Amino acid sequence: MTEGTSGGAVRQVLPVVIVGSGISGLSAAVYAARAQLAPLVIEGSEPGGQLTLTSEVENYPGFEDPILGVDLVERMKKQAARFGARYRSDDVVGVDLSVRPFAITLGRGGPLYAHTLIVASGARARLLGLPGESELFGRGLSSCATCDGAFFRDRVVAVVGGGDSAMEEAMFLTRYAKKVYVVHRRRELRASRILADRAQSKPEIEFVWNAAVTAIHQDQSMVSGVTLTDVETHETRELPLDGLFLAIGHVPNTEWLKGQLPTDEHGYLVSHPGTSETAIPGVFVAGDVADPLYQQAVTAAGTGCIAALDAEEYLAEHNLG
Ligand code: NAP
Repeated sequence: MTEGTSGGAVRQVLPVVIVGSGISGLSAAVYAARAQLAPLVIEGSEPGGQLTLTSEVENYPGFEDPILGVDLVERMKKQAARFGARYRSDDVVGVDLSVRPFAITLGRGGPLYAHTLIVASGARARLLGLPGESELFGRGLSSCATCDGAFFRDRVVAVVGGGDSAMEEAMFLTRYAKKVYVVHRRRELRASRILADRAQSKPEIEFVWNAAVTAIHQDQSMVSGVTLTDVETHETRELPLDGLFLAIGHVPNTEWLKGQLPTDEHGYLVSHPGTSETAIPGVFVAGDVADPLYQQAVTAAGTGCIAALDAEEYLAEHNLG
């Protein structure tokens, strides 16, 4: 659809722009494309989202055998493309939701204008907030065992966290590392029973309970160990390590929205209950950016579907399709 501007120029207005190309964004793309809305997906700096950082997915319905996260994403991308979805390799760096159509600023390309926006920008790994942490990424510090585990063959590593991600990371690392510590700040795991049992049955994994990482040490700019502090006794001890993996949850990727949409106290976007609608009509949310609780591939796909259906209805109601 094109429309004239006050300066007489003609600009193209897209019916649906989807920000994010993880499972939620791609699921939204499948539905919006199949509704002949030719959605444009802005892929972001991590095309495919967090599922590309995982190894095998064995709980996505319909796959009797495990499927690689990257393969699942690729299949969904092709599926949406078959119905007319388009992809742009770029980042959204800003958006103006106070104007109609919405104005979207990209990192590299020119501005885009859209009648509806589906926010599916996901979440990223949380950091400990310790001095030197950011600089050590890629230098023995990681939040992705699938990506970096192979660098630690016959080495000693630790995973911080007690959730499902920490269990998966630790188990994956046993393929390479000779010893994997799991450092958790409590005595009980948050992880699901099945993953906790699997991890606890691995002889290479040793659990360090009630422990907080209070310093990361380095030698020649590489991780060389950590200081662990017992959260009850406050006693400290040094643990020499070759690698440290963080699996302590996620932070929603909302910086580019610059506060234009309401969030909960943890920064996750909020929608009207039971829908993907936000406080701004025409803006819809999907996936982990609005999900502090479930964060599953299948729930992300479900909310992507809901967002596309809500956008389709909005366009029809406003004669914008
Ligand atoms: P999570 O469930 O929120 O667990 C985060 C863990 O990190 C918790 O054990 C938490 O400790 C710890 N933690 C948080 N902040 C910390 C800090 N500053 N210092 C030390 N420890 C800290 O996150 P997740 O494991 O990434 O999982 C997120 C969601 O994805 C969950 O719903 C999970 O079920 C799902 N998931 C599922 C699978 C699967 O089914 N295959 C795999 C991965 C993830 P506390 O326990 O003390 O709070």
